[in-house]
Amino acid sequence: MRKLTEPKIVLASHNAGKLREISELLKPFGIEVVSAGELGLDEPEETESTFHGNARIKAHYAAKNAGLPALSDDSGITVDGLNGAPGVYTADWAETPKGRDFPLAMSKVWNALEERDAEYPRLAAFNCTLCIAWPDGHDEIFDGTVKGEVVWPMRGEHGFGFDPMFQPLGHSETFGEMDPAQKHAMSHRADAFAKLIAGCLD
Ligand code: IMP
Repeated sequence: MRKLTEPKIVLASHNAGKLREISELLKPFGIEVVSAGELGLDEPEETESTFHGNARIKAHYAAKNAGLPALSDDSGITVDGLNGAPGVYTADWAETPKGRDFPLAMSKVWNALEERDAEYPRLAAFNCTLCIAWPDGHDEIFDGTVKGEVVWPMRGEHGFGFDPMFQPLGHSETFGEMDPAQKHAMSHRADAFAKLIAGCLD
C-alpha cells in the first residue's frame, strides 16, 4: 500500500459537512488540507453505481486537476426495509429545483417505510468509502460502516444530511443529537478513516 508522504492534500468534496468532519479527522496528522472549492475545481459527475466507483471519480478528478494527492468521500445511508435504498443515491433523494432538501429526503425514506409497513426496528447503515488518489493515477480505497436504525420524527441539530433520523445501535440519541466528537468516535467515516490511517499514514 502506498504511504501518503506529501505535506498537502486536496479534499475532493464540495459538501460542507464532509469537509468539516474530514478536516477534523486529519488535524492530528499535520497535513495541510485545501478543498476542491478553494482551488476552483468543478464537481465531476458521479456516473458510477457503487460507492467505490464514485469515490474514484471524485478523487482522480481532483488529483489530476490540482496536481496534489486527493481524498474523496462517497457515502450514503442504506435502509434494510427499502432493499438498501437510497444507498449510492442518498444525495439524489434530496434534490429539488431549489437545491438539496434533507428534511424532505428523510421524510421520503420514512414514508416509503410506512407504505411498506416495514417492521421495527427499521434497520439501516451509513456507509463511507474514502479514496486517496495521486496525480500519477495510483489510488487506495477504504470502507467504513456503522449500523443503526432510522427513527421518526427526526431529532437533533448537529451534523448534516441524514444525521437527525439515524440512531446508531446501542444508543438513544441520533447522530443529529450527539456531540460531534461522539459521532466522530463511531461513525462510518471514522471507521474508514481508521483504516486509511493504518494503511497510508502509519
Ligand atoms: P455523496 O457521497 O456526495 O453522494 O453524498 C452522500 C450523502 O449521504 C450526503 O449528501 C448525506 O446526505 C449522506 N451522508 C453521508 N454521510 C453522512 C453522515 O455522516 N451523516 C449524515 N448524512 C450523511
